[in-house]
Amino acid sequence: MSSALQKNRPDTAFSFDNSYARLPPHFFARQAPTQVAEPWLIKLNEMLAEELGLDVEILKREGAAIFSGNRVPDGAEPLAMAYAGHQFGQFVPLLGDGRAILLGEVIDRSGKRRDIQLKGAGQTPFSRRGDGRAALGPVLREYIVSEAMSALGIPATRALAAVLTGEGVRREEILPGAVFARVAASHIRVGTFQYLAATGDEDGVKVLADHVIERHYPALKAAENPYLALYEAVCDRQAALIARWLQVGFIHGVMNTDNMAISGETIDFGPCAFMDSYDPMTVFSSIDQHGRYAYANQPGIGQWNLARLGEALLPLIDPDRDKAIEQANAVIKAYGERFHAFWLQGMRGKIGLASAEDGDLELVQALLALMQAQGADFTLAFRRLSALAGDPEAEAAFVSSFREPAAAVEWLAQWRERLARDAQAPGERAAAMKRVNPAFIARNHRVEQAIEAAVEDGDFSLFEALLAVLSKPYEEQPAFAAYMDPPKPEERVLQTFCGT
Ligand code: AMP
Ligand code: MG
Repeated sequence: MSSALQKNRPDTAFSFDNSYARLPPHFFARQAPTQVAEPWLIKLNEMLAEELGLDVEILKREGAAIFSGNRVPDGAEPLAMAYAGHQFGQFVPLLGDGRAILLGEVIDRSGKRRDIQLKGAGQTPFSRRGDGRAALGPVLREYIVSEAMSALGIPATRALAAVLTGEGVRREEILPGAVFARVAASHIRVGTFQYLAATGDEDGVKVLADHVIERHYPALKAAENPYLALYEAVCDRQAALIARWLQVGFIHGVMNTDNMAISGETIDFGPCAFMDSYDPMTVFSSIDQHGRYAYANQPGIGQWNLARLGEALLPLIDPDRDKAIEQANAVIKAYGERFHAFWLQGMRGKIGLASAEDGDLELVQALLALMQAQGADFTLAFRRLSALAGDPEAEAAFVSSFREPAAAVEWLAQWRERLARDAQAPGERAAAMKRVNPAFIARNHRVEQAIEAAVEDGDFSLFEALLAVLSKPYEEQPAFAAYMDPPKPEERVLQTFCGT
């Protein structure tokens, strides 16, 4: 082939435009991925690749090389981002991407800027004592759960691909190594602001805030105080996000400030899991020994993290520190009210109310208390209630979620009394409820089974099946009815691991 022809041949699947790489050099460290022995493409998310405007044919052919980091595509400017973070309440002034490398940014089909990052792509200047790698299990967990969240309609980073490296990683035992390619509106975290603020770099904080406004909140450029407005907007998105988490029984597991994205996407799926039977103090993470990040603590922890963001933004909010603190305090207080409003609105939807009345909170709380006392499965109980809204015959199924049916029947009487004042036809109400009460969540035992088959036997069929089911969480899918079931006692998974 002549060199002219060679030049014309499109040799990359990506059209990168890397705005983060144009920020001041101390925001990141340029770092290429480390080569791996024998990359093998486990999975390419073709729909997402299309959405990103990538060349799917090239990715099918060369995905193993590209997503393992063995071949850095043209136009990529690989870098590790610097950030700080409060880990379980302790401030660490420099964390950074110790095993993740941002390849670059692309503009997707709808004009939105998206990061493409490889997680587990080798050591960086931020690796400390870590090996820069990821094990297959946590990569599959993040793949499954982040896609499940997104299919539920909850903002989350996305899974673009997963690759086996052909190398082992040393954890408690030697495990197969993998790289996870993920996509985010950006990987900027609360901890990114904290990193700059902690060194007294007020100019840096301003540059980052301007970048974030441009990228995620462009309408705020016109605000009277764009930085205060930015703070409000980030708090608002987190309030909405965490309310959504609670409504599907999601437990993030490691809500450190370095794992909270400024874009409002769920990020860093480590020991995350969905709750089966309803218990507000549910914790899965093996490292969360005091339940700091338990299910019901998440809104409060969100507020604590956002207070840390507020501290980093203070100099931008007002040059007079006292005035800045007063304004930031008002925002963080409003977060509590915003969260409650989002949550209550969502819960009204879950019990089939289109209207709002004063007693709704009590009605919802009574159901939750009953579910807790009676060991009801969170997801199934709401799904069965949805069916009951359209079909009185479905009462037995709903009631069977509770150990003592009588208590559930009593609650149903209050519910029906309230529904009588809510103008919706039964069929319409049932359909609306089924759009917010999923039939399928990424149940922990299913996730573990899929991971175990892949890690122990190289069998990815359960992983594929689970992804397929979870891509339509609100549809009935009778062929996969068993995926709706809670774990049998011997299948219950009580602990999940970070996998670092
Ligand atoms: P995480 O708990 O995954 O959010 O990670 C917390 C911090 O530890 C981040 O700075 C990560 O980059 C870093 N880290 C986690 N695992 C590794 C690893 N295997 N090698 C290097 N750094 C890591
Ligand atoms: Mg993290």
